[in-house]
Amino acid sequence: MKPAAFEYFRPRTLEETLEILRRYEPEAKVLAGGQSLVPLMNFRLAQPRYLIDIGGLNDLAEIREQNGSLAIGAMARQSAIEDSPVVRDKSPLLLEATKLVAHRTVRNRGTIGGSLAHADPSAEYPAVLTALDGEVVAVGPDGERVIPAPELFLTVCTTTLAPTEVLTEVRLPATGPRTGCAFTELSRRHGDWAIVGVAATISLTKDGQCEEARIALAGAGQVPLRCREAERLLQGRAPVAELIKEAAESCEAAAEPLEDIHASAAYKKAMVRVFVERALTTALSRAQRGQHAA
Ligand code: FAD
Repeated sequence: MKPAAFEYFRPRTLEETLEILRRYEPEAKVLAGGQSLVPLMNFRLAQPRYLIDIGGLNDLAEIREQNGSLAIGAMARQSAIEDSPVVRDKSPLLLEATKLVAHRTVRNRGTIGGSLAHADPSAEYPAVLTALDGEVVAVGPDGERVIPAPELFLTVCTTTLAPTEVLTEVRLPATGPRTGCAFTELSRRHGDWAIVGVAATISLTKDGQCEEARIALAGAGQVPLRCREAERLLQGRAPVAELIKEAAESCEAAAEPLEDIHASAAYKKAMVRVFVERALTTALSRAQRGQHAA
């Protein structure tokens, strides 16, 4: 398969990128790692006339700690995130999720910004951003704006980013003390897209009660789904197995997965229960052992 003809640009600065986007909008598209956009172009499901390769914007690839949070440039490759000591230290949930994104060869090209801008509801990163109440920074002709996770995802593969905006940074809060995290997912083979995925964290009080739980689902609706009801069930209580089961049932009830060639909606809902229970049990055990993640 070959893409439709397009004109290719490789700007050296963000300003230049914004200028080209503004000039050719809405027929221009940003190319990051190309791991989602290029297949879409080859199938001619996307036919941008102008392709703006931002692979040369090295300033957008930095991964750093900033005021106790994690700041990741949109162009940080998934493999760089996987190898980053800062990510291992500050966001073990992101690290665990990254290892489930495709295979290393895809992760060598794919970027965190590309994954969030692409907004596939089955993808791991949107669920992590949602669970952790992260935010992204977008820069456009009117300057910079910060978009909190719940305001980023509109529907399947659609975000609130304007066609003239570039996502520049992803911000995630660092994992706190007595907190365990887990990302679990059902996929046909390791590296395949998640049929259902779960990002979960549990923070414990000094006497072992659940101080806070965070749960977000991938593959359970048109956007990543935050399971607030289940989180409320757990908060302030002893996180015993029965309560975790109840929380998992609440997530199953909240999930609205779409049927596809891999599974029926009913099967996906049942798997939400199974994988939430596993994620919460693992996160709890890690919190109890004083270990953030694997
Ligand atoms: P691109 O493909 O370059 O761009 C994707 C979209 O985002 C385009 O519309 C582009 O214009 C836009 N965009 C990119 N960067 C920006 C930016 N900074 N600002 C504004 N818009 C931007 N993903 C998973 O999550 N889980 C998987 O299991 C998984 N499996 C995969 C398996 C295979 C075989 C392949 C090829 C891909 C898989 N992916 C998976 C997708 C992969 O993670 C992609 O890398 C990711 O979805 C898109 O990132 P990218 O950098 O390649 O973006």
